[in-house]
Amino acid sequence: MTTSVELVVIGAGPGGYACAFRAADLGMKVAIVEPRAQLGGVCLNEGCIPSKALLHSAEIIKEAHHMRDWGLDFGQPKIDLDKLRGKKDEIVASLTQGLAGLAKRRKVEIVSGYAKFTGSNELSINGESLSFEKAVIAAGSEPISLPGWPEDERIWNSTGALELRSIPDQLVIVGGGIIGLEMATVYSALGSEVTIVEMSAQIAGTADPECAAILHQTLASEGITLHTNTGVTAVTATAEGIELSCEGAFTGTLLADNVIQAVGRRANGNKLDANLAGIEVMDNGIIVVDEQCRTNQPHVFAIGDVTGNPMLAHRATHQGHVAAEVAAGHEAALDNDLIPSVAYTQPELAWVGLTVAEAKAKQVPHKTTSFPWAASGRNLASGGGAGLTKLIYCPETHRVLGASIVGKGAGELLAELVLAIEMSATLEDIALTVHAHPTLSETIVFSAERALGTLTDL
Ligand code: FAD
Ligand code: NAD
Repeated sequence: MTTSVELVVIGAGPGGYACAFRAADLGMKVAIVEPRAQLGGVCLNEGCIPSKALLHSAEIIKEAHHMRDWGLDFGQPKIDLDKLRGKKDEIVASLTQGLAGLAKRRKVEIVSGYAKFTGSNELSINGESLSFEKAVIAAGSEPISLPGWPEDERIWNSTGALELRSIPDQLVIVGGGIIGLEMATVYSALGSEVTIVEMSAQIAGTADPECAAILHQTLASEGITLHTNTGVTAVTATAEGIELSCEGAFTGTLLADNVIQAVGRRANGNKLDANLAGIEVMDNGIIVVDEQCRTNQPHVFAIGDVTGNPMLAHRATHQGHVAAEVAAGHEAALDNDLIPSVAYTQPELAWVGLTVAEAKAKQVPHKTTSFPWAASGRNLASGGGAGLTKLIYCPETHRVLGASIVGKGAGELLAELVLAIEMSATLEDIALTVHAHPTLSETIVFSAERALGTLTDL
């Protein structure tokens, strides 16, 4: 193992490996410390990629089912769980092996082990010491476990759920955030009867309420039971299953073969002895950074989930690039307010920039405009269900400030609006840009035209 390095990156998730590779490309001598056998962190190994592989399967099952209304009956799907799990694992392995190759080509040293600070410029890894000039903490986050629950292998977190051990007849998911909703989509398509218990009034709590309500109604119409404003007060493991006592809008008992806890993630900042390097860490494990990803110690940076919300892979990667560039002496910064969020449910729910609630709280002058997908030719011709494209804009300048989309493929559509906001585009810029017909992207133009009074499609 190297004993001294110019830049050490702690953690090889989408933040850490992107940072290490960018720093190496800028000419720095870099090492990554990572205890897992594979690179890629949560995102590749037990997050974004395996969940999207399973969501793809769920989408195919649901689409085939809906085609019965069109006179196409493919029959009941035969699910080979071992093969499906194998395919998911194969996709993960191909990506993580690819990363190992990219690290080797850049001469980034991979140090296997768990890093802890022992001083302002020193780490200990498996009892061995590594000194550094600059460090980037990219140690990620872990699932929150609710206190007082029994230890039982029928209770899963997101990692357990993605292992696809079985398809439970009755599945209860506690937490109606993005993980809960995506796992509900997967297991419901595979054949489980799914119930979501969410303590707040709205699923996907930070999303636009109107768009979240459309997702809620669609999931309910597909057979998923959603209990919002409901808390779990007691959990008991019995021979028949896991029993959950609920109180709130739904008061009663649920019995499940399996339960998924999806109640958020906790940043890993408290596990690194960061105080020995003088780095400030909040009680909840979050390390606060500025827009250049610097901690309170100028030679130490932090990126990704360990820096708090939104805990998303693309934010971690962009922060990783910023930290590498600043560490190498370049000018760089990231606007944390313009990070897109996508729930890869059916339909997808995607949003970026200012929400109406934020605009009200910050007293930002704003108006909204929207286009319902029931009037989109492409949506109807593609068998799409309910959907809405909604823009938030400045009434004076017509600049787009935020956007929310719910509908098939909303995550891909959102990219145009992320760029629009980045480029300070106005409603006129969008409305006067010719979009191909028939596409779902027309719903963005129609929303802008509606606000300008030039819409002829509604
Ligand atoms: P991580 O990916 O958490 O990686 C941190 C790494 O640091 C880990 O490999 C860990 O082993 C290592 N580490 C920790 N402590 C130490 C230490 N002391 N020394 C050395 N190494 C250490 N985000 C999206 O944008 N899109 C999605 O579709 C999406 N889907 C998700 C689905 C699920 C089920 C989950 C759980 C998450 C999902 N996320 C998604 C979130 C995304 O995975 C995270 O935001 C992202 O992985 C964060 O990247 P990171 O680099 O900050 O940390
Ligand atoms: P979350 O914070 O998004 O949602 C957790 C939900 O659980 C909230 O709605 C909360 O009100 C609810 N909750 C908390 N305690 C509860 C309780 N005791 N009983 C009932 N409900 C309770 O967290 P998550 O869904 O676990 O996701 C964790 C992180 O992973 C998020 O930051 C998310 O952005 C990220 N992620 C992203 C994607 C994606 O981008 N597609 C996918 C999965 C995860």
